[in-house]
Amino acid sequence: MATLFISDLHLEPARPEIGEQFLAFLAGPARTADALYILGDLFEAWIGDDDPNPYYAQMRSAIRELSDSGVPVFFMHGNRDFMIGQQFAAEAGVTLLDDPHPLELHGENLLLSHGDALCTDDVEYQQVRAMTRNPDWQAMMLSKTFEERIAFAVQAREQSLARGESMTDDIADVNQGAVEQVLRDSGADILLHGHTHRPAVHPFHVDDRPVHRIVLGDWYEQGSMVEWDEDGPRLEELPR
Ligand code: MN
Repeated sequence: MATLFISDLHLEPARPEIGEQFLAFLAGPARTADALYILGDLFEAWIGDDDPNPYYAQMRSAIRELSDSGVPVFFMHGNRDFMIGQQFAAEAGVTLLDDPHPLELHGENLLLSHGDALCTDDVEYQQVRAMTRNPDWQAMMLSKTFEERIAFAVQAREQSLARGESMTDDIADVNQGAVEQVLRDSGADILLHGHTHRPAVHPFHVDDRPVHRIVLGDWYEQGSMVEWDEDGPRLEELPR
């Protein structure tokens, strides 16, 4: 039995092939897992748990079926679905995790993160992140009507494009100093994150201590997963 980690599916109705692979994953390999951790950007966008789009309801109930089958499912916010709230968590049967989240697994000390907080070179993004993760800002946003929130999301997207940012390129990589600091502060041996869409395993040292940074890939062309059992972690591609 293994614990599974995924991130950066960027599910949206316009990319049905990703959703189909995710549904097959939930009904297939995930069913025999010890637990499933979704480390952010499960959805391309999220403007409130009250979104009536049936696509989201379909994904939510498929996750619910997995958790109802006895596999614990954990969810951490990404930079695109950070508005996911307790209503979604209750309906999908998932437990929301703070970022970062420490986890002991098969005798190893892990630190789980989406990864965007570690991209400290992107100063402008970190300012936006600080604003949008503020509970007051989120309460203000959720007090708007659904239509107003859609208009806001479209406007934010246009502003982002006007700054020259594109959907898949231009994601800043993590800052090595920030990575070393969270590993130092947490004492973790392994940092596992997504967000950068640069799947890899990086061994290095923090204060002479051997550590690893494992990066999950996105699901744009194929799936990506870390499978972790008593033999340790394996970063795997899931062909479509
Ligand atoms: Mn991300």
